Amino acid sequence: MKIRSVEEINKKIKAGNANVLSAEEISNLIKEGETPKAEDVDVVTTGTCGIMSGTAAVLHVPVSDPGAFKKASKISLNGVPGFPGPCPNEWLGSVDLVIYGTSHSSEDEKYGGGFLFKDIVAGNDIEVEVESIDGKTFHKTVTVDDIGTAQMLGTRMAFKNYNSFTNPSEELISSIFHAVDMEGPFKGLSVSGCGQLNPLQNDPVMKTICAGSKILLNGAESIIIGNGTRSSPEKPNLMITGDMKQMDPHFLGGFQTGAGPEVFDSVACAIPVLDNEIFEKTFILNKDIVLPITDIRGRHSVLSSTNYGEVWDNSDERPVYHPEKCIKCDNCVVRERCPTGAYSDNLNLKKCFGCGMCVHSCPNQAFTMETGSVSFGIEDKTYDMPIICRQSDIKRARELTAELRRRIEDGSFILNNCLDKTS
Ligand code: SF4
Ligand code: SF4
Repeated sequence: MKIRSVEEINKKIKAGNANVLSAEEISNLIKEGETPKAEDVDVVTTGTCGIMSGTAAVLHVPVSDPGAFKKASKISLNGVPGFPGPCPNEWLGSVDLVIYGTSHSSEDEKYGGGFLFKDIVAGNDIEVEVESIDGKTFHKTVTVDDIGTAQMLGTRMAFKNYNSFTNPSEELISSIFHAVDMEGPFKGLSVSGCGQLNPLQNDPVMKTICAGSKILLNGAESIIIGNGTRSSPEKPNLMITGDMKQMDPHFLGGFQTGAGPEVFDSVACAIPVLDNEIFEKTFILNKDIVLPITDIRGRHSVLSSTNYGEVWDNSDERPVYHPEKCIKCDNCVVRERCPTGAYSDNLNLKKCFGCGMCVHSCPNQAFTMETGSVSFGIEDKTYDMPIICRQSDIKRARELTAELRRRIEDGSFILNNCLDKTS
């Protein structure tokens, strides 16, 4: 039964008296045996942060004076190749381009599109190199203020369903699903997904999170433009676009994997509590969300399953560094393996993703953090494995979810109806 409309919720938001709870707060109430009532909650906020490989940027970059070249044939930003076009910009001295968050720098194997996007959003200098169709080369240093358009397009974001990965073989396996080549057999698990906080876990049939919904993408008010690629009713994900100039660099960036640099993003969505059915979907608990355990070789062979209670319920968000335990190895394996470059001689918590690679790599236990573990059986054998790599960051997801709540509560984020649905 309908309880309220989006318009009625917006009136309360504008008056500063909307009742907002995060999906985690709802889950905690359920865990404590309480039964929250839809009448008491206007909006539930949700969020996620993780590797989102479908991230691209559409940019318009100034390169030279008008007339210096007819058209670009190649372009790179900080060594990361983009695709000039689709508009040729004949003789304008500027280049329209599309660049992928998954593209790798030709100059630095640890740098790629995700790191570039963070640098753009942070306002850092970006080195542009353009080759024109007549073979001339142009160089220019720009910042985000020089770039006319900087629009992010996420072709597949905020998935509802994730897999976790282990390596059952003796071979080292290279994959985007682990921060380094994965050792085996059954040495550990690499996981993704923010469980009960994840937007589409709380609105699995996309009743309120759908094309036309306003959301936060990396801190910028953005919009869902449709279902993402490979989306299905059972495994939905979102296509999202947002202005990079409005984003906060904290919420996006690059993440090293065994198959090279990837890109991570953060998404927060508001669920208007229009009826009981919508509200009750937000009661979901980590322990009830199944996480398949999959063979990293080929990714489709499901070996067993665990749940998000094992991943997040008793784990820490960030590691603690114990410098007195660091013996200053000649080749620090943590510096080598940290996917975000958060450790050099000290731990930079601003760069840290909470992945756990340091904890499970340092031979002298200079880092501690609870990252959870799983136990599962295959045929007549039981395996106990630590979660050695978390490719989703629950801390950033919580921070963006809290930011969305703050904006709703102070009246600066007004909800809207989905394009194809009424209030
Ligand atoms: S591997 Fe561990 S002990 Fe060795 S230098 Fe790195 S942090 Fe220190
Ligand atoms: S948890 Fe450790 S390895 Fe992971 S990003 Fe933070 S410092 Fe780096």
